[in-house]
Amino acid sequence: MKQTRAFKAPLAAAVSAALMATLLPLAPATAATEVTARTEVNAQAVTVDSAVQVATKKIQRDPSKTDVFVNKSYPLSPKKYAPKTVAVKGTNVRLQSSAASAYSKMVKAAAKDGVKIRAVSGYRSYARQAELYNYYSRIYGQSYASRISAVPGTSEHQTGLAIDVGNNNSQCGLQACFANTPVGKWVAKNGYKYGFILRYPKGQESVTGYSYEPWHFRYLGTSLAKSYKNSGAKTLEAYYGVAKSKSNNNSDKSAKGTAKTTANLNMRSGAGTNNRIVLTIPRSKTVQLTGSKKSGWYEVRYSSKTGWVSGTYLSNISIPSTPKKKESSKDSKSKSTNSKSAKTTANLNMRTGAGTGNRVVLTIPRGKQVTITGSKKSGWYPVKYSGKSGWVSGQYLSNFSDSAPKSNTEKKKSSPKAATKTTVANLNMRSGAGTSNRVVLTIPKGKKVTLTGTEKSGWYKVKYSSKTGWVSGKYLR
Ligand SMILES: [Zn+2]
Repeated sequence: MKQTRAFKAPLAAAVSAALMATLLPLAPATAATEVTARTEVNAQAVTVDSAVQVATKKIQRDPSKTDVFVNKSYPLSPKKYAPKTVAVKGTNVRLQSSAASAYSKMVKAAAKDGVKIRAVSGYRSYARQAELYNYYSRIYGQSYASRISAVPGTSEHQTGLAIDVGNNNSQCGLQACFANTPVGKWVAKNGYKYGFILRYPKGQESVTGYSYEPWHFRYLGTSLAKSYKNSGAKTLEAYYGVAKSKSNNNSDKSAKGTAKTTANLNMRSGAGTNNRIVLTIPRSKTVQLTGSKKSGWYEVRYSSKTGWVSGTYLSNISIPSTPKKKESSKDSKSKSTNSKSAKTTANLNMRTGAGTGNRVVLTIPRGKQVTITGSKKSGWYPVKYSGKSGWVSGQYLSNFSDSAPKSNTEKKKSSPKAATKTTVANLNMRSGAGTSNRVVLTIPKGKKVTLTGTEKSGWYKVKYSSKTGWVSGKYLR
């Protein structure tokens, strides 16, 4: 979650994350093989997943414990819990002492690799979090504020076990691009050795409830951090088997179909037998499909847990077809269910899932029209062709057409209203962030400006009337 100091760059982080979601490249590396390869069989899909009963991992709710689990659905209890904290060596950032000394150890190790980690924000009290959250809510509205900042009592920062890190030169501070900076890369790779994990990864917003935050690390202690890392789980929610949130996304997901288990079947924290068992689903039970599929494994919900099961032991897999989607479209405006089409630009494999690891259903000849049946995933589209349904790489589709183009729908969905703002006064656009800079032009009151995603000390870089410059955020709504 965001740092406290000067509310720095909240917008930049949020907007760039949203943009990244819509502008992700179409997996060029796999694309080339995708066109020609026709017969790979996925070995994992036939792996027999033995049905061993394993107790579900207990979720720690005691806030004084290092493994306390905190998210929007699991608030701190008591709500105003305040841990004992110490200042991290050489900084005024505070953490619980165990986390602080682990952090210092990590900083030393990174320095040996020539990487200088800066502590940006650590412990935040309930009151401080309330201030922050209210600030974001005022500016962006509550629903958007909730994606970038925690409701007081639900922030990991309140545990004294979470830290936001940065580079010494503030490169990409609290922005998605931080992931590609020296510190972003080093901590993501090595943090777990010191007990820190990246808590809000890319593409997991519907699970964690937060935008991608490559700067936010959670201290779990080294043994739990290592176990988490080895589990292959993408989120702590998945690790504990509670990857179900109260977000709207999930009501969408529940409409993605059902299947029946043909054996006592392990639900795991990830797609593959090397992942931790969340629970064992008895034979002949109906599970809900979330719509995610990977290498022959399906993400399912059963008995209020979410996890992955091998498709080998599922039958009666029913995925709602177009007419059914119409029914469910009433529950969500964000769901794009219009039937769309595109043209293949090569002989193109249709596969059972989004990725070359999935079985080929058929090969669609070049220049054929396919119907797009749902939302894009990692550059792959679910399509229908010649009475069959499956996934194809978007790399080899062109001429997307329909009444409401998919890309627009997606952009509308994922770009926050914060992408444009309205001036509440005649407002000077300046050449830099601050009144000491040259006025580029004056934007009349009530005009819409486009935010570029860069913010500095309360000033926003905006576009207006084909000019780019800085305006004070005080006069934007
Ligand atoms: Zn944070």
